[in-house]
Amino acid sequence: MASKRTAVVTGGAGFLGSHLTDRLLAEGFRVIGIDNFITGNPQNIEHLASNEDYRFVKQDVTQYILLDEDIHYVFHFASPASPIDYLEHPIPTLKVGAHGTHNTLGLAKAKKATFLLASTSECYGDPLVHPQREDYWGNVNPIGPRGVYDEAKRFAEAMTMAYHRYHKVDTKIVRIFNTYGPRMRLRDGRVVPAFIGQALTGQPLTIFGDGSQTRSFCYVSDLIDGIFKLAMSDFHEPVNIGNPREMTIKQFAEEIIRITGTAAQIEYRPLPVDDPKVRQPDITRAKKVLNWEPKVDFDEGIRKTIDFFRTRLG
Ligand code: UDP
Repeated sequence: MASKRTAVVTGGAGFLGSHLTDRLLAEGFRVIGIDNFITGNPQNIEHLASNEDYRFVKQDVTQYILLDEDIHYVFHFASPASPIDYLEHPIPTLKVGAHGTHNTLGLAKAKKATFLLASTSECYGDPLVHPQREDYWGNVNPIGPRGVYDEAKRFAEAMTMAYHRYHKVDTKIVRIFNTYGPRMRLRDGRVVPAFIGQALTGQPLTIFGDGSQTRSFCYVSDLIDGIFKLAMSDFHEPVNIGNPREMTIKQFAEEIIRITGTAAQIEYRPLPVDDPKVRQPDITRAKKVLNWEPKVDFDEGIRKTIDFFRTRLG
């Protein structure tokens, strides 16, 4: 099938990588998924086992990536991505942001492919500008526990722009804000699976700090839609993709209690080091350049996510 375009998705068995893969297959791409399962999950791609447009390679992308076929798109999504994951795997997090980004950019250059980097709102650190626009340079502690992720992604962005400017690779950078939905890992430590898992099993919802810190949660299908549009665009500067609907973590806990109808209480725990106090994407650029904005409202998205976690717990 020479006419099909081929995309490589690193972190292909992860939460976002697997949803992106489904979208690319639905759009008529062939997909090569790469994952070393450090935080990816084989269950996320088991439905693709008999899909002849899908091929899986078990590999750590910090090692040289050897692929014989023509490649048209490289999506670099491999990385531990939750605070407890990158605390547990600090060196692999730095390496996949640095060596992994270098290797995947090298692959894109060799194949004359379009490259898309999964970057993050963590580039803004604990932001002093609110909401965050792409031209804000951020407030990151390089030597704190989150520094391994934040700085790896900032390095990855620098490397991506260097390949764009110096090697003329067609690159894109998406800054992903808090995203939720089916296929998140129940125990990845992030607030969405943590609170839903706790609510469904009748355990206290663990709020870190006083719960006044804010986040803005985007449903996964909206995020993937923005990423797909960015990949197809000719825009090279970073683009925020996220849902600007902001709430405090305490409000989020109360919503989960309301929607699940759980009898579980709230329990307060110490706030992790360098936990950002606020986070909300300014999506003016995505609206203008990609004609994109989120469509799934919070209740609908969270109900779908709760249904998914019920099946994982059941
Ligand atoms: N959080 C919490 N309880 C938990 C897990 C997280 O209160 O069980 C808080 C965390 O301190 C942060 C927010 O929820 O302020 C979002 O945390 P998450 O780990 O989902 O990702 P982050 O946005 O910090 O990268």
